[in-house]
Amino acid sequence: MRIVVLGAHPDDPESGCGGLTANAVRRGHEVCFVHATAFRAGRQFFGRPEREVRTEEAKAAAVVLGVDAEILDYAHGTIHAHPENVARFKRVLLARQPDVVIAHWPVDTHPDHRCIGTIALSVYLDPEAQFDFYFFEVMTGQQSLHFHPTHYVDISDVAEIKHRALLCHRSQNGEEVWQSHEVMHRLRGNECGAERAEAYIRVDRKKTVKALLPMWNEE
Ligand SMILES: [Zn+2]
Repeated sequence: MRIVVLGAHPDDPESGCGGLTANAVRRGHEVCFVHATAFRAGRQFFGRPEREVRTEEAKAAAVVLGVDAEILDYAHGTIHAHPENVARFKRVLLARQPDVVIAHWPVDTHPDHRCIGTIALSVYLDPEAQFDFYFFEVMTGQQSLHFHPTHYVDISDVAEIKHRALLCHRSQNGEEVWQSHEVMHRLRGNECGAERAEAYIRVDRKKTVKALLPMWNEE
């Protein structure tokens, strides 16, 4: 199975789907992270351009998780859900022939997250799209809002891999990002009877369930 996780920034796919990803890769599935934006003009980390630093961090995290990483050329704050961008993301996503696409939940305080979620949903609703579609959550309460899961993934056995992937994002203080998601892992675990879990919302517009991941628990 081919899974594409579409996130706004390097560290978003890792934060939202790192556990699902580690589980999927362990079972022989192919996973690709598409990061839409890795820089803001003029911003630096460690005395180097943000784009360079965050591209390196995304690639290091991809190695930890065993996934492919593609980084698009948008600057932060310049992604908008207009038809040209929907068409571009459609090309990017369909080129990878995904069975499953997972993207940001669009009810989010971060404008880049909102736009990516809306764009991904628009691509999913295009008649040419044949993949199953889910939303992931990040920093729930601070970023994702009103997220009521339909599916859970038990990540208890792979949490350490997700932690290591997040630690690659030094410029974003990966340990802090991990800590805030640890609270969510425990909460979602409690909701589904696992020690730690990630949660997802499935959009089921087409009624074509062809590729549910074997480790996904139905509600
Ligand atoms: Zn983000």
